[in-house]
Amino acid sequence: MELHGKNIIGAAESVEPAGDGFQAKNPATGASLEPTYHDATQSEVDRAYGLAVAALPEIKKLGREARAKLLDCIAEKLDALGDEWLERAEAETGKPVGGLKFERGRTTNQLRMFAAFVREGSWTGARIEHADSERKPLPKPDTRMLRIAVGPVAVFGASNFPLAFSVPGGDTASALASGCPVIVKAHPAHPGTSEMAGRAIAEAVAECGFPEGTFSLLHGTGHEIGLAMVRHPEARAVAFTGSLAGGRALFDAAAARPSPIPVFAEMGSTNPIFVLPRAAAEYGTAIAKGMRNSVTLGVGQFCTCPGFLVGMESPELDGLRGQLTEYFEGAAEQVMLHSGIRSNFARGVERVAGVEGVSRAGDDLTDAGPGGATVTAVLFSTDAGTFMDSEEIRDEVFGPSTVVVGCGSRDEMFAMASSFEGQLTATIHGTPEDLEEYADLVGILEEKAGRVIVGGFPTGVEVGDAMVHGGPYPATTDSRSTSVGTAAIERFVRPVCYQDFPQSLLPLELQDDNVTRILRLVDGEWSTA
Ligand code: NAP
Repeated sequence: MELHGKNIIGAAESVEPAGDGFQAKNPATGASLEPTYHDATQSEVDRAYGLAVAALPEIKKLGREARAKLLDCIAEKLDALGDEWLERAEAETGKPVGGLKFERGRTTNQLRMFAAFVREGSWTGARIEHADSERKPLPKPDTRMLRIAVGPVAVFGASNFPLAFSVPGGDTASALASGCPVIVKAHPAHPGTSEMAGRAIAEAVAECGFPEGTFSLLHGTGHEIGLAMVRHPEARAVAFTGSLAGGRALFDAAAARPSPIPVFAEMGSTNPIFVLPRAAAEYGTAIAKGMRNSVTLGVGQFCTCPGFLVGMESPELDGLRGQLTEYFEGAAEQVMLHSGIRSNFARGVERVAGVEGVSRAGDDLTDAGPGGATVTAVLFSTDAGTFMDSEEIRDEVFGPSTVVVGCGSRDEMFAMASSFEGQLTATIHGTPEDLEEYADLVGILEEKAGRVIVGGFPTGVEVGDAMVHGGPYPATTDSRSTSVGTAAIERFVRPVCYQDFPQSLLPLELQDDNVTRILRLVDGEWSTA
């Protein structure tokens, strides 16, 4: 596919030259990649929203089955991009094609999963309470509730998953599934990968007979374009994956609007792993190997990368620490997504290394390679007291590093667990006896994290009905939702009550016939009848 370097606004490709433009850079070689992209302008943002607003009622009329077909069609179009899409993503992000193949599967499966979910329909939350004209002292009205699309959603593509959390990722899939038009801000680190996906989605929109404003894609390198998307009066919700600074800036901008809108920002976390004493003794080696693999997977650039391993000071923890030190000192070089992320990583490593009471093993990070993005993994070690006294250690270091923390007692481990801020995940490794003895740890961790894991590792997020990829602030700006799995749709719907409506005026899901047989709460009883 010949890349055009243009914004996609509905059915049109558009470029209103603003500034000098920018090109993607290969993080492994430093080479610039054609073509040149330009920051979108305010008038392009306005046009995208104008089309999105016009599209909303049309999308509603097309209904659930048509939306499901659109999602399936997008998945097909993405598959049809073939290896060219993956090769461009590799050139822009340094992620190897092998891993990107897996990510593409995840992306298209996710779209197909949402298609099936939209068809099934129970997520619309239909509820019916029939009227009772005989009720005393007042007659009861007929009330029916349904969740409908909120309106245009601004989606921010993430840098670390150029396919699965970017233009065609979970945010776009769940917003389209809910019936919302979507305007995506492409991540400036992989504009070509974004353009290819954007053009596939726009093609699917046209082929499935959806209005052109169903989808638009805007490029930009500065903060202005993203802020303009969030501040636009027609925006109704925002979905974001990225840094705490970025997510927080967009959240504040959304809250400061004359009409505030929700921001679902997933901003990462440190994903602590608690290793209980018997587990450390019985399978410490397996934990050390799993930890190494999880920390270095994707060059540590997963929001679920485990940033801490917490154990009870003991010869067994010493053994585990020793094995990890050996692994990290022998770790291979890897290329991060871009030189900016690598600089942030190096700054974070220096910040932690500078804390008194912290020791370090692994890379000295002196050689950034030709693309300025090369690293090897770093291991830190400290004690619980130092951890609890130092914010410098607690903040996320995005990249392949982790800190082993030794606790002097069970109470100290509980105090340490309580001191963590909101997390996407928290993990416990323990034998059945450990889990019984440390049962209160589960209670502490479920207050902290969106997902609590026993015996595994947090990387490799299952995409399904029961997944929660969310958590209390600062992991996200809204702990009531998830950005992965079918429940992500709930971010983009709002309930409407239809009172005393004639059947003909009601949405299909609320009519007495229930022709699509969705599960509904009817006069207090769940039923598909
Ligand atoms: P980022 O800086 O948060 O950028 C993500 C997107 O948000 C980009 O499109 C960026 O566009 C926009 N943005 C950022 N700050 C903004 C602001 N103040 N106002 C308006 N728009 C803003 O993330 P990144 O470039 O992917 O990586 C930088 C750091 O983010 C990493 O070093 C890492 O710490 C963290 N990160 C976390 C996750 C995670 O999973 N939670 C994923 C990736 C990165 P512009 O740059 O064009 O403004």
